[in-house]
Amino acid sequence: MSAYVGKYTTDFRHLYVGRTEAVLRPRTVEEVQLVVRILAKHGVPLVPQGGNTSYCTAATPNVDGTEVVVSLERLNKVREIDVGNMSMTADAGCILSALHDAASDVDLMLPLSLGSQQSCQIGGNLSTNAGGIAVVKYGMARDLVLGLEVVLPDGTLFSDLNSLRKNNSGYDVKQLFIGGEGTLGIITGASLKLARKPKATVTAFLAISDIADLSILLDRAQRFTGDAVTSFEYVSNNSLQLLLGKKPDLRHPLEQTSGHYVLLEASTSSHVLDLQGAVDALLEEAMGEDLVTDGTIASNEEQRNAFWHLRESIPEGEVLNGGSLKHDVSVRTSRLATFIEEASRIVKANSPEAILSVYGHVGDGNVHFNVVPPAGTGSVEFKAQFEGSVSPLIYRLTAEMGGSFSAEYGIGRVKLDLLATYGDPGKVALMKTLKKALDPGGHMNPGKVVAGDDRPHL
Ligand SMILES: Cc1cc2nc3c(=O)[nH]c(=O)nc-3n(C[C@H](O)[C@H](O)[C@H](O)COP(=O)(O)OP(=O)(O)OC[C@H]3O[C@@H](n4cnc5c(N)ncnc54)[C@H](O)[C@@H]3O)c2cc1C
Repeated sequence: MSAYVGKYTTDFRHLYVGRTEAVLRPRTVEEVQLVVRILAKHGVPLVPQGGNTSYCTAATPNVDGTEVVVSLERLNKVREIDVGNMSMTADAGCILSALHDAASDVDLMLPLSLGSQQSCQIGGNLSTNAGGIAVVKYGMARDLVLGLEVVLPDGTLFSDLNSLRKNNSGYDVKQLFIGGEGTLGIITGASLKLARKPKATVTAFLAISDIADLSILLDRAQRFTGDAVTSFEYVSNNSLQLLLGKKPDLRHPLEQTSGHYVLLEASTSSHVLDLQGAVDALLEEAMGEDLVTDGTIASNEEQRNAFWHLRESIPEGEVLNGGSLKHDVSVRTSRLATFIEEASRIVKANSPEAILSVYGHVGDGNVHFNVVPPAGTGSVEFKAQFEGSVSPLIYRLTAEMGGSFSAEYGIGRVKLDLLATYGDPGKVALMKTLKKALDPGGHMNPGKVVAGDDRPHL
């Protein structure tokens, strides 16, 4: 029998094409248990798969075809919404945007929002501890979880779906599976916190001349709005120009160009607070002090969507320019501007022809410090050369500044070396101990996150 190669074995970014003899798509929790038990009994490794939008090839099987894909796509029912408790319990295979719709139907919202929300699944979001564009206000996926249901590597069920907001009855075991990238078990259900829907949202596209002003502006915005900032997204002029150069149908929101832009969004569930007035006052003061050099506030939903469309199209702009080499890093928000300046200096000194594309969720200290090959160079060769010579300098700077080499997306296959180099040795050792304890056979998503001496088949 020849192994299957297709959408279940190819990662979203087409970095990795694996093979498999079987894709299993259980419909119930019991079927997930059965599948896991049978595979464990026969020593067959498996790869849990959600929407397969992983940025680090964490959801694809290896190239030998020896791993079975377990797709959660058919386990996709909303089990319960408790409006009074402001919580929702859902199957792991629910598409994130479907959960948005279900919460919206009862005038609430699930405040986890990311570019892949039309295809990623809540099980995948929790397994990667997804971030997105509203972390400033609501936190990461981890912060939205009240309880989990997980099929363990031997097929037994761990269930903690009581939707309690307070529960101090021993270890908080569910946390192990959040960000676990499917290496410790298959999440089959989750109880999630919901939030009140905003009654007012104000979105502004702002220009700043000095990147050092980023954290000052964020602090000022929080003070003026009473901590109502939902998103604080940074876009460098380079990133915007790469996009606009390839997509002439898109419009620059401001008259004049600047080195740096911020997409600021604030929202409140109050129908009496004057959020618009607060943002107007913020801009008046910030522009008076030259903290903001230019800015515009969306006057309607269409304009708001246009601002967000620009921000969310930045990765596409990179792709249209030959693709980027990504450094998805985080440092304390108070150190972010210094990091960007220092890292930019490193690139200029070591690879002057490289084009920087820097943007991201800077309200969370998370920046995509990406590098695009100069036009006319072979992008594969350029990236390989840069990755070997300059990327380590960027990661070293991140570590020296107390930051993380992986702010979002996880480790998967592609950041195993970075974990080995920059991960805290004590933490990595404990991760391996936990993996051995829960999955002694090493069958659950092998070769991801905690590859030891059994480093797989890349
Ligand atoms: C356009 C775009 C924008 C993105 N923006 C963001 C962003 O802003 N922030 C962010 O954090 N990420 C972002 N991502 C990355 C990605 O969408 C997230 O990591 C997402 O959470 C993955 O969900 P998924 O269902 O696609 O998981 P998959 O890709 O299928 O799997 C990811 C990992 O989780 C495991 N897994 C999946 N389902 C389960 C389960 N039920 N139980 C156990 N393990 C499971 C897999 O084995 C794998 O290790 C983006 C991706 C794209 C394509």
